[in-house]
Amino acid sequence: MRIAMISEHASPLSALGGVDAGGQNRHVAELSAALAEQGHEVRVYTRRDDPGLPAVVEMNGFEVVDVPAGPAMTLPKDDLLPYMGDFAEWTAADWRSAWLPDVVHAHFWMSGLAAVTAGRACDVPVVQTYHALGTVKRRHQGANDTSPPHRVAYERQLGRVVDRIVVQCQDEVQELIRMGVPRSQMALVPSGVDTDRFRPEGPAVRRDADRPRILTVGRLVERKGYEDLIRALPSVPGAELVVVGGPPDGRLDDDPYARRLRALAESCRVAGRFHLAGPAGSADMPRWYRSADVLAAAPWYEPFGLTPLEAMACGVPVVGTAVGGLTDTVVDGVTGDLVPARDFRALGAALRRLLADDVRRVSYAAAAADRALHSYSWRRIAARLATVYATVAGRTPITTDSPREAVV
Ligand code: UDP
Repeated sequence: MRIAMISEHASPLSALGGVDAGGQNRHVAELSAALAEQGHEVRVYTRRDDPGLPAVVEMNGFEVVDVPAGPAMTLPKDDLLPYMGDFAEWTAADWRSAWLPDVVHAHFWMSGLAAVTAGRACDVPVVQTYHALGTVKRRHQGANDTSPPHRVAYERQLGRVVDRIVVQCQDEVQELIRMGVPRSQMALVPSGVDTDRFRPEGPAVRRDADRPRILTVGRLVERKGYEDLIRALPSVPGAELVVVGGPPDGRLDDDPYARRLRALAESCRVAGRFHLAGPAGSADMPRWYRSADVLAAAPWYEPFGLTPLEAMACGVPVVGTAVGGLTDTVVDGVTGDLVPARDFRALGAALRRLLADDVRRVSYAAAAADRALHSYSWRRIAARLATVYATVAGRTPITTDSPREAVV
């Protein structure tokens, strides 16, 4: 099949770890590579944010197409709505003149608007993945939410007009039902993990053998719960907390949130055990996970959450908050422990207990690696998504996970 992806702000080419570059970039890159490996032709359309980039870039068997829409510079994703009309027009022209896809898969709601417009113009069915929902963001961030005012209405309407919504976890299903989106519109297919790269065996980042390592990974934004982890640290004696993530240029000293976290660590008297490691390239991530005794993920809310899954694939148990995708990926008491969000005492108690119990940690680690490999490998997830695409495109659905046979 010919599959177009639209990911307006999250290019697979972008560095990860910055404020707007994270799981969606990784998701689109790895999904596209896995589909290409299964014999599909994949093009990812993303907004041109750098005049120096070539119009088309080859990456792991698929193409990334730079769409001229709005100024060719980095803009916050919440400012991109006015350019989605131009984005759709340019993409539709590309489809008409050169490369008509069988299906378009939109990532994030603004991409969905462009996909529906271009899809209608060219009679291409649309699959939508939200990655994050405005209702959830507004609930947790209140006045700090910078989303355009009509986001929730757009998301609800998109849910009714697209050919299929791919939801990533049970929590998202419930949220969409509450918004009035029919369940029959949804296919539940989670995100995946590259289990060839993220696996227990392999090199690890060096560490101090005397200190248990709690690792946490992500963009340096408040809702990821780093402050709760720092507040939990005094009740986990001896352990170090390492944060991987931050601005792509690695200039943590200039980052106001990094400074705030360091100040909090001082006031909690754990500054000597708190390390901001800065951002890591995607190739280095498996080495970071393998260096940890436990992966802590303490978000207030989380649409899916790739980092717990990547850690699990590397055979690292997770202590996480019971929100979003974590409640599906982490099996409480089997592959990790789940605690309520924004409860640093519960977080501290769970971390202390797990770090003190070698038998439990080893058993969680084995179950975590097994679960990631058997339920979340990209090979499996991409084949499931190809079935969704084939269904909406009116082709015979693929019913196999085998990469060879999956070619339509
Ligand atoms: N990541 C990375 N380098 C960093 C920080 C994060 O490669 O310095 C990657 C991480 O491995 C994961 C993604 O960024 O694949 C973060 O995804 P997640 O779903 O956890 O969070 P999001 O950014 O979507 O909120």
